[in-house]
Parts: sequence; structure tokens; C-alpha cells
Amino acid sequence: MPAPESAIALVVAAHPDDGDFGAAGYCMILAEQGWDVHFLICTNGAKGTADRTMSRERLIAIRRDEQREACRRMGARGVHFLDNEDGELAYDRRLLDQIVRHIRKVRPHTVLTHDTDQIVRNSFINHSDHRVTGAATLDAVYPTARDHLNFPEQLEQGLEPHKVREILLWSSNHPNFEVDIGDVVERKILALSAHVSQVGGDEDFAIFARDRWKADDGRYLERFRRIELAF
Ligand SMILES: [Zn+2]
Repeated sequence: MPAPESAIALVVAAHPDDGDFGAAGYCMILAEQGWDVHFLICTNGAKGTADRTMSRERLIAIRRDEQREACRRMGARGVHFLDNEDGELAYDRRLLDQIVRHIRKVRPHTVLTHDTDQIVRNSFINHSDHRVTGAATLDAVYPTARDHLNFPEQLEQGLEPHKVREILLWSSNHPNFEVDIGDVVERKILALSAHVSQVGGDEDFAIFARDRWKADDGRYLERFRRIELAF
């Protein structure tokens, strides 16, 4: 466990609801242990509706409100939204700048984000925005955020270099760290239910969600690929 002053976690997700699906259980456990948990959402969430009458501006506002409510239910301290277009996230200097800036500001011990593999467990294709977010976040952690020669204009704005100590990747083909979320699984479903525009309000979702996190031995788990950064 890190010293209390560095018990800070940052979830970097492509879309509203991604970080919640991947890591809400562990985020709630950390928050209960006194950690400050922050969320950074890399796109504007302007996609993801079958409602033809929905405008993109309204959808962006709705999905941000849903993420704020989900963060409240998880006990997260804050959420920040970037303005990159949903579905078109590109790995460029601007995105790296945005993520590095946030890491230097929040100064997390642990960063949680998407795995970068395109095919996950031979069962689904990992969205391009997810892969870009994961790749840019890993690069932001190492080496960019820690080196003072990267984005020096941030230093002039008071954002000092920062070393992240632990990375956790969700939806990984190579999990090596599992968290028993049995005590918080109902609260995780409640947090996800805040994303009404995505999951609806129906009972089917709760059944689907419980099933998805249930291991063969009956425990509810979140699994991550964990990387400790020793230096
Ligand atoms: Zn997503």
C-alpha cells in the first residue's frame, strides 16, 4: 500500500461508462480505503444512441451527467472530460499532452485504463477509441509524464513531472491481478445503472452484469493486467 498522501488513483477511459464496466468495483474498494479516485474521459461521448431524435449536443450533456452520477455512486472524487470526438479518437501529440497534463495534475500512484489488444479473449473486438486511450495513457505514464523535457510548457504552468507506480489494465488477455468484488457487486451495478442512455433501466442489465463478473468458482471478480513500475 502506498503512503496515504499518495493513495490516489486515476481512471483513464475512452467513453463515459468504460471505466465503470472495467473497474468500478475496485474503485469503490479503494475509495472505501480512503483513496482519492479520479476519472478522465477522453472523448465527448457523442455516439451511442439508437434514438434518432437525439441531438449530439444533448447526448454529450446527458452522458456527462450520467458519468458524474456514476462517479458519485462509486465514491470517486472527481471526473474530467476531454473534448475529443467519440469514435474518432486519434493518437496524436494533443491527446498525449492532455493525458500527461492530467497525470501531472492529479499525481496518481495507480493508473487504470484500457488494454491495447485489438481482440480480447477471442470474444470481442476492442473499440479503436479504447486502444488509442490505452496506448496514449501507457506512453503518458512512461516515459512522457516523468521527464521534465516533455511538454516543458506544462512545467511553466506549475505541473511538475510525475512517476506513476502501478498500472492496471482492464479487458486484458493477460490478467495477473484479480479483485474480489463480491461485497460491492450490487453497488457496481447501481453505479453502471446511472448510464441510463447506455444500459437502459431494465432488470436484464443487472442479470447480464452479475453474470459477466462471476467466475467459475462463484466469486465476483474484476481482473486486470498489473504492471508495477519499480523505477
Ligand atoms: Zn467505450
